[in-house]
Amino acid sequence: MPDCIFCKIVEGKIPSAKLFEDDAAIAIMDINPITFGHSLYISKRHYATLLDVPEGELGVIIKNLQKVVSALLKATECEGFNIIQNNQRCAGQLVPHLHFHLIPRRPNDPIRFNWQIGIYQNDESQKLAEEIRKSLVK
Ligand code: AMP
Ligand code: ZN
Repeated sequence: MPDCIFCKIVEGKIPSAKLFEDDAAIAIMDINPITFGHSLYISKRHYATLLDVPEGELGVIIKNLQKVVSALLKATECEGFNIIQNNQRCAGQLVPHLHFHLIPRRPNDPIRFNWQIGIYQNDESQKLAEEIRKSLVK
């Protein structure tokens, strides 16, 4: 994908602080970290979002995700972390190339995810679960 910044990073055309590479993915330090150590786990192939990955490929892409997170936590001396994966602009995705944010967390750090919790009325959640089950592609 010619104008994709992550494709360029994967190809080595743009510099990055790379911490991991295998056949299907790389991991780099995020250029604007929200915590010290915030990294990105990026597919080598260009897929705009998670849903663009062909069936069966996702496992290959994230095969070493756990290993990379473990190393990141060891190096940053953290035990907590968030993995965030944004899809589409409305969900905060700025770079349309599949990636996972790996965010080390520390006790009392300033990161707050401002989740406004809701509540389902009556049998709304059961009905929605049924709709989703019907929508599952076999
Ligand atoms: P998202 O909003 O999920 O698409 O996140 C894109 C992330 O890519 C942001 O956290 C940016 O700071 C990061 N980013 C953008 N350009 C670079 C770059 N050249 N090297 C490292 N990280 C980058
Ligand atoms: Zn790309």
